[in-house]
Amino acid sequence: MAAYLDTVPLSGIIRIRDMMYSVADPFRLDQGDVSFDAPDTVKAAMTRAIAENRTHYLQTAGVPRLRELLAAKLRDKNGIPVESPEDVLVTNGGIHGLHIICQAILEPGDEMLIPDPEWPPTAAQVLLARAVPVACPLHESRGWRYDFDEVESKITSKTRAVYLNSPNNPTGGVLTRADLERLAAMARAHDLWVISDEAYEDVVFEGEHVSIASLPGMYERTIPFYTFSKSYAITGLRLGYVAIKDAAIRARATKVLFYTASNIASIVQYGGIGAIEGSQACIDAFRTELRARRDFFYRSIRELGADVFSGEPPAGAFYAFLRIGPDAPAVPDGDSLSWRTVEYLIRNGRIGCVPGVDFGATGEGYIRFCFARDRAELTGALASLRELSATSRDGHRQSVPSLR
Ligand code: PMP
Repeated sequence: MAAYLDTVPLSGIIRIRDMMYSVADPFRLDQGDVSFDAPDTVKAAMTRAIAENRTHYLQTAGVPRLRELLAAKLRDKNGIPVESPEDVLVTNGGIHGLHIICQAILEPGDEMLIPDPEWPPTAAQVLLARAVPVACPLHESRGWRYDFDEVESKITSKTRAVYLNSPNNPTGGVLTRADLERLAAMARAHDLWVISDEAYEDVVFEGEHVSIASLPGMYERTIPFYTFSKSYAITGLRLGYVAIKDAAIRARATKVLFYTASNIASIVQYGGIGAIEGSQACIDAFRTELRARRDFFYRSIRELGADVFSGEPPAGAFYAFLRIGPDAPAVPDGDSLSWRTVEYLIRNGRIGCVPGVDFGATGEGYIRFCFARDRAELTGALASLRELSATSRDGHRQSVPSLR
């Protein structure tokens, strides 16, 4: 790696995070983190594991009981024909799952189709494997779903895999069963791997979550991966998992897992066992509250007027991906409206948010706000937005020097 790493970008989200540390009393709508506390089932299992001194090395692929529970979950909830817990590898969150998958299947120069816009670590993980991310636009006019002829036109002799993320971060678009059937046919016709990022499987407000690996014959060529971060509100504990049917690919992935982590933190894995063995009521409770926050956030955004921001409430995930309205001051050629507006909102309104262009070229002209923050933080951010928009209507808005 070494000098090659200089060409792999560090996500703009990190730059925003650094900017937010210089703001007093910020509204952290930039972070993709829920405000909920971890369920008691997780906390109790971790406390017990500490008391029982479960603090030693573990099997690289994960605690057997956790792999067993995850295999059953993948079968029962996702409808994926996982025959053995051996298929499951426990990872340091979803980002690590994606890392070991990319390292295990991509050769240098291979192409992987990824959505545009998309969670920035996806393209970076492809680059880390010395492969090439190929952007496939998601279209706002289609509910942030694909134009499949356009996706097919991106396939070349070098395409090795197609990465799906439904519900999608940042747009909240949810692919339908028919969409996934079309993608499955494409993957079969062109002999592609499918990498399915199901981080937001439990945050669907409209429609249903379908795992593409549950479609007939698809688990053979699909590697689905998951995280406990969103479903159980434990982003900081770092727990995720992947399911790999192909033994040779799984052996490669296991090596990457071992050489990057040895094993995932023991106490955290016991927390995961507690999460799955315990009541799943928190998942529905979180979704119900997130839906209320989504509706509250969009009601207030609508009140600001479409000249400030526009966009339909997302079908899934917990982000408002909003088009910046025509009211925004013009930016010089070559500058980014997304970045300029984010800098303005952070500097003048203390509102953390992420420029849409950080998620891909299609995101230019958009901003992402996370509405999974608690109600007080959302209310504060919205009040600040209202104030800024009133000031700008009065013509007092100041231009913000670019930080770039
Ligand atoms: N996939 C997507 C689309 C995400 O947004 C995230 C987290 N923001 C992840 C995967 C991974 O989450 P984690 O590493 O916290 O498990």
